[in-house]
Amino acid sequence: MDTTYRGRRITVTRPTLGNECAIRCKITMNGQTWYGAPGLLVADQLAELRRMIDNVDSETQRVTAVAYWYAPGTVEVCPLGAGSAYGEHLRFTGKECMERGCVRDRVQRARARARRYGITGASVSNLLTTAGFTAYDIDSARHGFSASGVQARRAVSLHQRDKHGLEPMAEVLRAHGLYVVWDESGRHLWVYSRTEAVAQGMDVGPEVAPPAPGPKPPTTPAARAVLKRAGLALAKPSSWGSYSTEGLYTVKGAPGTVEVHWHTHEPDYTASRARGAAVLTQAAGVLSDAYTAVHLPPSQGDCVVLSLRTAARAEEAAATV
Ligand SMILES: [Zn+2]
Repeated sequence: MDTTYRGRRITVTRPTLGNECAIRCKITMNGQTWYGAPGLLVADQLAELRRMIDNVDSETQRVTAVAYWYAPGTVEVCPLGAGSAYGEHLRFTGKECMERGCVRDRVQRARARARRYGITGASVSNLLTTAGFTAYDIDSARHGFSASGVQARRAVSLHQRDKHGLEPMAEVLRAHGLYVVWDESGRHLWVYSRTEAVAQGMDVGPEVAPPAPGPKPPTTPAARAVLKRAGLALAKPSSWGSYSTEGLYTVKGAPGTVEVHWHTHEPDYTASRARGAAVLTQAAGVLSDAYTAVHLPPSQGDCVVLSLRTAARAEEAAATV
């Protein structure tokens, strides 16, 4: 007989003689077929199924049975289970999964969220290197800064061998809405997310709108590519790390800037220098589409030098003068 109970479509067939399952009812529920308990007639078998369904439905938090025991659409495969260590499992459709592994994951994630304080050593370090500051490196930048998270303080500590170099970094971080204070020792800075600083009862003052992400600072390869496209003379690198011809070359300048230099290679320094001045003027022209080029005073026998900033940075610099 066909019937429906609490959303389940059930068919129970009367036991027939001559069948290997003759003394069992054939049951089909939600498309799944099996044989019932020995000796039960249809009415008894149906009563038994209803009792089992009531039992399944009495558990409202966890899915304890396989899918066909539930009314169609009321359970679904948990998206976090597929391919995970604790395997595929079901949850009530659209509800939070109560499977043990999933619950444990949620608890761990919530704890990790509680431990976080808005910033990390890496995120502070990223902000500073993007702004042109150099991070400490044991091989190449022993005077660079280092930023590391301190869980006990829920802040990032910012160090540099020369502590006077820290104040310009503090300005950059403050401009990004972070709260920055000197350590009691006066030797390094503490960086807090604004939310964390407020939570710790610090007097953070009115909120400053974070700056719109400006154009990226110039890079030496990008500037070199512009000069190359314009057909200007580029100095050819030599195998020993200098240049083997006269011409333009690009180097990293002050934070956020790239410098364009003229390499003099001729024995006649004065003539090469004059050529350099002319080419650098042309260079300033072709670079002015992408950057603001500023002539710097010559230094150490060098030729005229250009310093490139992105337009936005040049405006910032002008505004602070
Ligand atoms: Zn799950």
